[in-house]
Amino acid sequence: MARIGFIGLGNMGGPMATNLVKAGFEVQVFDLSPAALATLEEAGASIAKSAAEAVNNVDFVISMLPADKHVLALYLGDQGIVDAIPETALVIDSSTISADAARELGAGITAKGRRFIDAPVSGGVGGAKAGTLTFICGGDAADIEEARPVLEKMGKNVFKAGEHGAGQVAKICNNMLLGVLMAGTSEALQLGKAHGLDPKVLSDIMLQSSGRNWTLEVYNPCPGVMDSVPSSNDYNGGFLVDLMLKDLGLARNTADSTGSATPMGDMAAKLFSEHSEAGFGSKDFSSIFRKFEK
Ligand code: NAD
Repeated sequence: MARIGFIGLGNMGGPMATNLVKAGFEVQVFDLSPAALATLEEAGASIAKSAAEAVNNVDFVISMLPADKHVLALYLGDQGIVDAIPETALVIDSSTISADAARELGAGITAKGRRFIDAPVSGGVGGAKAGTLTFICGGDAADIEEARPVLEKMGKNVFKAGEHGAGQVAKICNNMLLGVLMAGTSEALQLGKAHGLDPKVLSDIMLQSSGRNWTLEVYNPCPGVMDSVPSSNDYNGGFLVDLMLKDLGLARNTADSTGSATPMGDMAAKLFSEHSEAGFGSKDFSSIFRKFEK
């Protein structure tokens, strides 16, 4: 069985690495958080004392970190780990970062004789736990095929969007749409609620009507409508408002680079920015529902 070095064990990386352990891979993990490491140790992973130690003698390196600066520093910073990665290993970054950063990683890592693909994911924490994520990859087709058996232990779909950075462009388009859908769905549910409708009944109606979308299907933002989603757990866990805000910023920059019009994405960015400033930055992004409360 292949050996995997996994760096970044947060809301997403933790369950993804756990699924690799369950699938029988030898997984060496590192995170800055001792609590995250302890959870993976219990699941059966080997705990490394540093990122460089985690990639010692592995076949694959997977990173799942918050944003550009974390991923660029991990691989290409002063203490960058590329030299510690075996030359035969394939580097897979699943963080959501800018397409420019993914291209910079691709150039920097391949310049040192290692292979790289960007492979951001969609599917949320529920998908990470259930092993049903969608991987949206950018890079060489042969490298993506080599990664496939590993990715399929964490997800059910593996797409090639294009070359380095293309996975991130596709992911950013998806998340811009998700931000718009979550804000719009929240607004619609609050409008119905203000008129005395039961949000559960209204959700059932919209699920069978033309307003149907992913947030209504699996991630309802109104507390009590669905079990086991962040809205029914005081908006804890899940996908943080500040991470959605980061993705909407990436969408803005991606649009600027081609002069594309994204007025709905811009509106979603404004709403999530105000919501973060109101103190919800570390809550799940479905808490935008609270912003429209009467
Ligand atoms: P998170 O904040 O829960 O986890 C990030 C982890 O990285 C933390 O455990 C942190 O300690 C660790 N970390 C940070 N810097 C590190 C370093 N230098 N070395 C080792 N560990 C380090 O974030 P998350 O929700 O797991 O998201 C990770 C990425 O996945 C982000 O880019 C996010 O946009 C993306 N994403 C998240 C979701 C979601 O639903 N949460 C869905 C799809 C994609």
